[in-house]
Amino acid sequence: MGRFAGFAVTFKQMFKPRVTGFYPREKRPKPPRFHGRHVLNRYEDGMEKCIGCELCAGVCPAKCIYVRGADNPTDAPVSPGERYGFVYEINYLRCIHCDLCVEACPTEAITESKLFEFSFSNREDAIYTKRELVVDDEGRARRQPWELWLDESENDNNSEWMRATSSAGAAAYEGRVNWSGELGYGVRSPERGQSGIMRSASGMTAPDEPVVRVDEEAADEGSRN
Ligand code: SF4
Ligand code: SF4
Repeated sequence: MGRFAGFAVTFKQMFKPRVTGFYPREKRPKPPRFHGRHVLNRYEDGMEKCIGCELCAGVCPAKCIYVRGADNPTDAPVSPGERYGFVYEINYLRCIHCDLCVEACPTEAITESKLFEFSFSNREDAIYTKRELVVDDEGRARRQPWELWLDESENDNNSEWMRATSSAGAAAYEGRVNWSGELGYGVRSPERGQSGIMRSASGMTAPDEPVVRVDEEAADEGSRN
């Protein structure tokens, strides 16, 4: 019987619920603040949000961002300000997806999509330039041949991790829309803040719905009992 003991284990497993998925054809939902590959955003009028200030490069702990700013050409400005980022590179052989660059950016130019399924066979592909990073005319990330974009609706979304130092840190600003308009996506939902989970009457956070803080709901519940 000894030699069949192993088969018995296999046989028993056959009738248990399957826990494995069909990755990569089927992917699990990613957390709202998932940090994926970056995009450089544009305003709804098509102008680039990056002003070439280099704050993201300065704060990056892995020193993987290289930015050079330049004065906007007066006849064909690239961004609404005086300056724009005319060189922008991220070295993904170094990036640790900490999102400090996202927090440091004053214009919401750099954010992270939810795509993490990308790999390279040469060092050149690992260095993303403006050609790869700036979103297309519909506001979506430009798909590269070495990236696996299967679930467009999810991966295209920006991570909800924006700026921890933004006004969302103050309870008074929770539920207010602070983000500027974005090509292809319009204005994002209000920030949830850090002092409590925000949700509207329908259960979803939405810009124009009344927002109810969970701890206030609990207080209401308590006063009714
Ligand atoms: S996510 Fe972190 S490591 Fe990656 S580019 Fe931004 S600051 Fe640098
Ligand atoms: S991405 Fe943001 S922080 Fe970085 S250079 Fe552009 S505007 Fe400045």
